[in-house]
This record gives sequence, C-alpha cells and structure tokens, in this order.
Amino acid sequence: MSATEQPEPVILDDGVPTAARVYDVMLDGKDNYAIDRQVAEASLAVMPELKEIARHNREILHRVVRHLATEAGITQFLDLGSGLPTVRNTHEVAQEANPDARVAYVDIDPIVLAHGRARLQDNDNVGIITADIRKPREVLDNPEVRGLIDFSKPVCVMLCGILHHILDEEDPQNIVDTLREAVPSGSYLFITNFTKLGDSPQSQELERVLLSQLGTGRVRSPEELARFFTGLELIPPGIVPLPLWRPEKVITDATTVGVRFMTGGVGYKP
Ligand code: SAM
Repeated sequence: MSATEQPEPVILDDGVPTAARVYDVMLDGKDNYAIDRQVAEASLAVMPELKEIARHNREILHRVVRHLATEAGITQFLDLGSGLPTVRNTHEVAQEANPDARVAYVDIDPIVLAHGRARLQDNDNVGIITADIRKPREVLDNPEVRGLIDFSKPVCVMLCGILHHILDEEDPQNIVDTLREAVPSGSYLFITNFTKLGDSPQSQELERVLLSQLGTGRVRSPEELARFFTGLELIPPGIVPLPLWRPEKVITDATTVGVRFMTGGVGYKP
C-alpha cells in the first residue's frame, strides 16, 4: 500500500470536533479529544441510546459485508466514510469470507489514514485514502482506489453512517447517483442513516445538537432514505431498523429508540 510509504501526518487537536472522533467516543474508542467527548455528551443527553445505536451500525456493517462476500460473490468493497479503525473492520470481515477480497477505505478525516495505515501495512488488497465524497468523481478517479477496485466488475459501495454528514445543500442524492452510475450491474449499494422518529422529539433534538456543535448530522425521513435507492432493487428485508436487517440474534423489543433511530438497506443494481 503506497500510503505506508508516506510520512506520518501530525494530527493536532485544533478544538474542532470531527464526526470520526465523535463516533469513536460512541464506540468507547480512545482516538478522540475533549471537544469530541463534549459533542458526544451533548448528543447522549438528548439520545442516551446513541452508544447502542453505534453498535447496531457496526453490527449491520459486519452482516452486510459477510452476506455479500459469502452469498453474493462480491469481492470488492468501496467503504466511504470508513471511520477510525475499530473492532472488526470491513476488510477483516470480507477477507474472512474470501481472502482475496479487496477493500478501499475512504474518509475525509486524515486521522483515519494516520491510524488506519499502521493496521493495514501488510495487506496488499486493502488501501486507505483521505478524500471527500462530496466530490465523488475525485474519489472514483483516485489512482489508489483504481488500483484496488476494478470498476468493470461488481462492487459493494458502502455509505454506512455517512450520508447524514452530508447536508441537503451538498446534494447527497447526486453523490449517490454518481456512485451508482460508476459501478456495473451486479453491484450493491449499502446505506445506513439517521432516520426521523415520527413519535418522539428526540431525533429532531439530536439533529439540532449535531448541526450546531458538529456542523453535520442531518436526520432524514424514511422517504428521503428510500430515494437514495432509486434505480436499485432492495434486497430483503428492504430498508429497516438496523438490528432487523437479517438479524443473527433475537430482537426482543423492536419498538425502542435504540433499535429504530437508524435504518438501512442494501440495493442491487440490475
Ligand atoms: N462507516 C463507519 C461505520 O459505519 O462504522 C464510520 C461511520 S462515521 C459515523 C462517519 C464517517 O464519515 C466519519 O469517519 C467521517 O470522517 C466520514 N465523513 C464525513 N463526511 C465525509 C465526507 N464528505 N467524505 C468522506 N468521509 C466523510
């Protein structure tokens, strides 16, 4: 991986929180600063279930990658907004199913590259770049991404927990459309997103906290989320609360905020 040959970037605590580090707090990680913990605490004050929700998000990622690698024969994963390395990353799950699986990680936060490449040093089928998905063409044309992902063969494009960090005025639909058009038929698109709770003010309150303190964190309606899958066939069970997507354990209560606040699904490009 060429990234390993570059000098280590210095990540300074500039007093600005980032989504990658706030999420790291939610996953009880150690790669975060006081300012990130402050945003996490303000968020947890309005939605105490957020740590549980972050775990559900990691778990659906594992189930989707495992399913596509084992059942659908997918060997290439473009993991956009991949986040800081944590317990069981995409390549670990994919390569467990298929040792030849290739994964390109992309994240806007340079701390992800700094922490990720040390872990990926010995893995030629995995790469990590710093890039902004708001410029999807640049991501798709990046030489390191192109070196790993063959866009003439099916790809799983992963937008797990990232689209809520794209504001409406930044046109998330255009990002999704560009990505969908760049991959051949037989590819998959995997999305999870914060989803509006019709019966609780918590989701709007969380959106207010995140937009004011982090600058992103857009909670979307089920209809808005469904629109991202335009032109794709949703594979069963469709767009559902994260723990209900092909669960591997019994969900005793599917009515809680912890279960329902994030929803997601996987679309197949025919
Ligand atoms: N995908 C991982 C998961 O689901 O466990 C991490 C999700 S984390 C909540 C969102 C990630 O998206 C962060 O690491 C953040 O830096 C990244 N991100 C936010 N905006 C981005 C952008 N415009 N381009 C690339 N990455 C972005």
